Amino acid sequence: MDLVDRLLSGDRRAAAQLVTLMEDGGPLAREAVASIYPHTGHAHVVGVTGSPGTGKSTLVYELAKEFRQRGRTVGIVAVDPTSPFSGGALLGDRIRMQKLSTDEGIFIRSMASRGHLGGLARATGDAVKVLDAFGRDMIMVETVGAGQSEVEIARAAHTVIVVDAPGLGDDIQAIKAGLFEIADIFVVNKADRDGADRTLLTLQMMLDMNEGCDDHKWRPPIVKTIALQGEGSAQVADAVEGHLAYLKESDQLRVRSVRLAEEEMRRILGQELLARLLDEIREEQFEFLTKEVAERELDPYTAADSLLASFYQGIVGKEGGGESG
Ligand code: GDP
Repeated sequence: MDLVDRLLSGDRRAAAQLVTLMEDGGPLAREAVASIYPHTGHAHVVGVTGSPGTGKSTLVYELAKEFRQRGRTVGIVAVDPTSPFSGGALLGDRIRMQKLSTDEGIFIRSMASRGHLGGLARATGDAVKVLDAFGRDMIMVETVGAGQSEVEIARAAHTVIVVDAPGLGDDIQAIKAGLFEIADIFVVNKADRDGADRTLLTLQMMLDMNEGCDDHKWRPPIVKTIALQGEGSAQVADAVEGHLAYLKESDQLRVRSVRLAEEEMRRILGQELLARLLDEIREEQFEFLTKEVAERELDPYTAADSLLASFYQGIVGKEGGGESG
């Protein structure tokens, strides 16, 4: 594919076009993934998540600058609709973003949340593959830690940074969103504000309580930052590099890669099976059973079972037909 050749030769426009292709999905996107895939697996993928307003975008901006100073090329994929990278920006943010995007060593892309969220996880994963094949050393994926799907997107990274900040009304919101468990690094941003130390202590206590639950040896460091002034971003960058070193030394990089591959395969299989199933079963039968369920004539499990049964019969029927023909 010409577009893929151009991507591999470092053409930024090809990278942008391929990400758009991934957003749209479909057979061409699959074909592109197949050609790109052998060239991936080199980038360090870093997920950055946390509640809206904690300062994720500001931190991602500062980290991008920091890693550039360290000689690394950077890709940013923003899945957060409130992120300045995705367009939800104030004027000051926009100006900062523009400064970043004039640097050839930084590639910024936001994901449009077209379609449903499951599709977004797929599109984001495939966009990361594009930037990986494009040769970015590290790729930051910024997402709001709001729902299951966003957590899933953040988790599909080698290193996960969970950003917290004081003054958001609830010290343990990070746990509630299911983010605590997935963090490799905690950032307490807005350290210039009252309550930052309390947020930090709460996280420390939670980590203490969790100690020993995990068989792996990494205790997530907690880094205080004032992202708005660039304070602490070097320490976060150190923590990110420290985590990568740990992953490599402990063989966790391989373990994690296998886990991520498994999760991606499961997701694709689930989507494919569902699509095929819905293709195969008759619309009228589906509608009829749905109505029965709505009217309490039938429970939803039994209805699903009978749809599955006719799906399997369809497959067997086809196989039988193939043999006799
Ligand atoms: P996001 O929604 O998590 O991406 O948060 P943003 O990066 O958009 O930041 C939300 C708001 O907090 C913006 O107005 C930032 O200027 C502000 N902000 C970010 N970092 C800091 C900080 O360290 N201290 C203070 N006081 N404000 C900050």
